[in-house]
Amino acid sequence: SDHLEEKREYIFRSKLPDIDIPTHFSLPQYVLQKAPQFSEKTSIIDSKTGTKFSYAEVEATSRRVAAGLVKLGIQKGDVVMLLLPNCPQFVPLFLGVAVRGAIATTANPLYTHQEIGKQARASQTKLVITQSAHVEKLSDIAAKGVPVLTTDQAPEGYQHVSVLTEANENDWPEEDMDPDDIVALPYSSGTTGLPKGVMLSHKNLVISIAQQMEGENPNLYIAPEDVVLCVLPLYHIYSLYMFLCSLRVGATLVIMEKYEIGKLLEVCQNHRVTITPFVPPIVLAIAKNPIVSNYDMSSIRMVMSAAAPLGKELEYSFKARLPNAIVAQLYGMTEAGPLLAMSLAYAKNPFPVKPGSCGTIVRNAEAKIVSPETGVSLPHNQLGEICIRGSQIMKGYLNDPESTALTVDKYGWLHTGDVGYIDEDDEVFIVDRVKEIIRFKGFQVPPAELEAILVSHPSIADAAVVPQKDDVAGEVPIAFVVRLSEVSEDEIKEFVAKQVVFYKRLHQVFFTEAIPKSPSGKILRKDLRITLSLK
Ligand code: ATP
Ligand code: MG
Repeated sequence: SDHLEEKREYIFRSKLPDIDIPTHFSLPQYVLQKAPQFSEKTSIIDSKTGTKFSYAEVEATSRRVAAGLVKLGIQKGDVVMLLLPNCPQFVPLFLGVAVRGAIATTANPLYTHQEIGKQARASQTKLVITQSAHVEKLSDIAAKGVPVLTTDQAPEGYQHVSVLTEANENDWPEEDMDPDDIVALPYSSGTTGLPKGVMLSHKNLVISIAQQMEGENPNLYIAPEDVVLCVLPLYHIYSLYMFLCSLRVGATLVIMEKYEIGKLLEVCQNHRVTITPFVPPIVLAIAKNPIVSNYDMSSIRMVMSAAAPLGKELEYSFKARLPNAIVAQLYGMTEAGPLLAMSLAYAKNPFPVKPGSCGTIVRNAEAKIVSPETGVSLPHNQLGEICIRGSQIMKGYLNDPESTALTVDKYGWLHTGDVGYIDEDDEVFIVDRVKEIIRFKGFQVPPAELEAILVSHPSIADAAVVPQKDDVAGEVPIAFVVRLSEVSEDEIKEFVAKQVVFYKRLHQVFFTEAIPKSPSGKILRKDLRITLSLK
């Protein structure tokens, strides 16, 4: 029976004990619970202007925003779109929408008119908050009567966001909220297809944050004295999650509008940043760029990498540049609410961890590795699809019960689409995505493994591997390479061939100027496959 099937499964858990997680809080209540005790402490620093905002200010502004939303007619459960680059206003706006009991959907402000329109229609957006530079792309949304507010000077016909941030909080007494209500509607990155709207409830996010920040030995130890860099886009779940975690514990968030290596190093040095949530492209840039040695990075105690595979060699060369920092990984996915695994090197009482690991399964959750052929769960050290179960995972995809049912099965397991294994110390290792694995005859070639080898070459700045159709093998791996210095196609092929089994050898190398990547740090292999089909 189904029951017996369940019993025979290999289930993996955190090494940390489960904890009691309060589930009656709304997300903003939980995140700002200790704000009164941090009151005058700096919550946010705008790296552009140096302006600081205290915890008291952020909390008060969030409540004003909620009252202002009521005044604008925004009801409980309505969707508000934040179409913003990283800016200090993002924080109280996101929290204010949540205090109102409305739902924030976040989008990349560089999206086109069509992309924004699509997300606004699918989510039935009732209000958009953006910058004046982007209002033109919102013309038809505005024409339909959806108010558009701007955080800078409002163009004619638009209102300034001060109608929210300077509203009278006493106009609206807070309402009670059901923790199962949706609070955020982030979109997946669209790496493998179209971005998918993901419904996350107050409870999902509270649990996901608590899994890291609570307990006698928090898995992710951020202290009130910590200064956390916020350079990754807040419209993506990784950065959003880190902002929520930082505020929960009273740390200071330094917000950078966009990533530029020199600026980033300067901000880390000048603000004595202690924690840096990064993605592999930033790790790569810091590892390979000589300007790093011109800056004092000694304040950084914890470097985090997530969102895409980080090669072991790259991890080593990066560590050599920041010898005093803990360099490790976490593993997230929008649908997972968002965290699946976190390195125990970041714990208050850390555990030893291995290079290349993306952490240990979050506490209060279960994981299994499933054979793609048979669907049965596998023991330690065997490759299969990573699955997770727990109260933090999404309520479902927006308007798409079919995809939801394909992703979260009837037993509550979220199937990630990532191939990996869990080793004898319960550490999670990701090999690649199921969809990206190249199939050479019966053999499997994970592009991430070849990319890791390629970027370990001193003359290679960056690389991506994709499949090319082949009459004999079905598919063969080929590479796009960005050079740092002179190196030939044959030299590169040989460099790889010496390190891999025959079926993983590169069949061709194309030299290129840059590897296409999404703002959330993923290689856009689908774009490279198109480039290849045009060659
Ligand atoms: P889409 O689902 O729209 O194709 P996406 O999967 O890239 O896009 P996200 O939810 O932003 O959207 O990313 C989740 C994915 O990122 C994971 O499924 C995994 O493939 C990858 N990822 C996250 N953390 C890591 C990590 N530490 N190492 C390797 N890959 C990671
Ligand atoms: Mg995905």
